[in-house]
Amino acid sequence: MALMLGIDIGGTKVAVARVTEDGTVQGEVMEFPSPSTGPEEFVEALLEQLREVRSRIEDDILGVGVGCAGTIDWHESKVVESPNLPLEDEPLGEQIAKALRLPVVLDNDANTATLAEVRVGAAKGMSHVIMLTLGTGVGGGIVLDGKLYRGATGSAGELGHTIVNGNDDLCRCGRRGCLEQYASGSALERYARRIVDHGRLASAVGGDDAADAAAERPEDYAKRLSELAAADDLNGKSVGELALEGDAAARDAVAEVAYWLGAGLANMANIFNPDMIVIGGGLSSLGDLLLEPARKVMEAHAIRPNGTVAQVTAAQLGNEAGVVGAALVAWEVLENVTVPV
Ligand SMILES: [Zn+2]
Repeated sequence: MALMLGIDIGGTKVAVARVTEDGTVQGEVMEFPSPSTGPEEFVEALLEQLREVRSRIEDDILGVGVGCAGTIDWHESKVVESPNLPLEDEPLGEQIAKALRLPVVLDNDANTATLAEVRVGAAKGMSHVIMLTLGTGVGGGIVLDGKLYRGATGSAGELGHTIVNGNDDLCRCGRRGCLEQYASGSALERYARRIVDHGRLASAVGGDDAADAAAERPEDYAKRLSELAAADDLNGKSVGELALEGDAAARDAVAEVAYWLGAGLANMANIFNPDMIVIGGGLSSLGDLLLEPARKVMEAHAIRPNGTVAQVTAAQLGNEAGVVGAALVAWEVLENVTVPV
């Protein structure tokens, strides 16, 4: 059976799997923690681990697809920069090709996740698909006419850094007003913290600040969020879980994320007129608690018919999307891959 290796390199772990042309994982997904060394040793430690994993695989492997967090130079097979890995202008594709003695194709991890959802996930069979991954940050991928759109150099699809509010909070990218600052797991935590600190969330959703301040809230409104904060356990995940349990304050924090997500979706709908926008990443586990209000904001703000044409759906593939998508990219572009030395 013909197999590609899919490698997904994230900030906390690296996953490797053998994947068939139709996107099926063969055997187990092998994982190891991302090297926690500084920039000098990171690549060497990563290559060492990959060599070790490769030595345990007995099947013939045709090639390797690598999905990596960060901005990718598609033509040079380089990581230009990465928000959570110590990589800068790193020719990672060539390095992995040499280490594994296999042809390698390197792409952004949100691109690979998007391709996986289009080929075998929530957007299977659709031609025009946008994906947003809502985690610590916000990643994006664009499929147009059935193909991943990478732009001039490979870094198209940075949808998390589209500007939704020009003069407010500083983003990790050093700029202000990025969607990522308003509709990510970090944003959910920030909103929850604001509720803990001020007893309420002066929000875009609430509109009128004065009316919002005067609104009646039960005395124990922020109790459970405050308990999480006191236990040093307030984060996007814990706030999301509390919201799913029905906690009103946590739900207000989610509603704020939903509002800004909806604004982002309206932009995507207006630019691309997609069939579907797939929402992945940790926050997608909130399901319709997040997606339903976001859809409403999108429909209210996007032009007709874009806002009603675009279905907004949670991703289907979960953790395997990274390795499957990386391998599917390799299956698609094998003729363009870096040749091993
Ligand atoms: Zn940004």
